[in-house]
Amino acid sequence: MPGRAPYLWPDLDARTRPGRGRPRVGHHEAMTEFDRLARQVYVGARDGVLDPEAAFDLACFLMDGGPPSDAVRQLAEQSVAGTDPAMLADLAGQVLEEVRFEPDFEVEPRLLEVFQRALEAVRADMRATGLDDPDRVNLRLDDSYLRHNFAHFRGYFRFTRGIAPGEGPERVTALVAVADDVQDAVMGVLKMAWPVCPAHRFGGHAREHDGRAVWWCKGGGGHVIALIGHWGR
Ligand SMILES: [Zn+2]
Repeated sequence: MPGRAPYLWPDLDARTRPGRGRPRVGHHEAMTEFDRLARQVYVGARDGVLDPEAAFDLACFLMDGGPPSDAVRQLAEQSVAGTDPAMLADLAGQVLEEVRFEPDFEVEPRLLEVFQRALEAVRADMRATGLDDPDRVNLRLDDSYLRHNFAHFRGYFRFTRGIAPGEGPERVTALVAVADDVQDAVMGVLKMAWPVCPAHRFGGHAREHDGRAVWWCKGGGGHVIALIGHWGR
């Protein structure tokens, strides 16, 4: 989007270099600190109980890395002034948007429910295509990386990108993301294309088409094989 340069990430890198006023911290530590602050501010702003101190810490963290945006500077000022909780929450929201913060499943468990429902739909497609143990695919929180869930298959997991919580709010997007991830896991384990278009024998891929989540085949000029969750129906 215009005017939303992702200025944070280069700054985070800068923080991990020595000689910048703070002890050298690893990138991982900087991300962990950022995550902790951003999550605290996100939950506080969402629930109307934003702690000005947390908002201030987040603003300082961001200012520490380089020239702040207007929103970051105002967030710092307002958190010190402490006179207008609504404005503070609004500024916090602007800052979180600027840094492209995405709530994870821990702070927004409802997102996980959307994914669980999507997974049920993809399981139906696995059963319909004759995969023997679809129930062993499950969404699992990876403790080392709480931002993402991964589909697991037969105790293995293989994935290209995982499923980010930000992909969750819309059912169609969640279906496509989960189907894509399950497909990666299944193909990685079984070493074969899945699912396969019955007409053309090409492997299908999950995508959005006309506002619906579908398995798409490139054969015959491209066509919908089935709605995700409705294979063979
Ligand atoms: Zn086809």
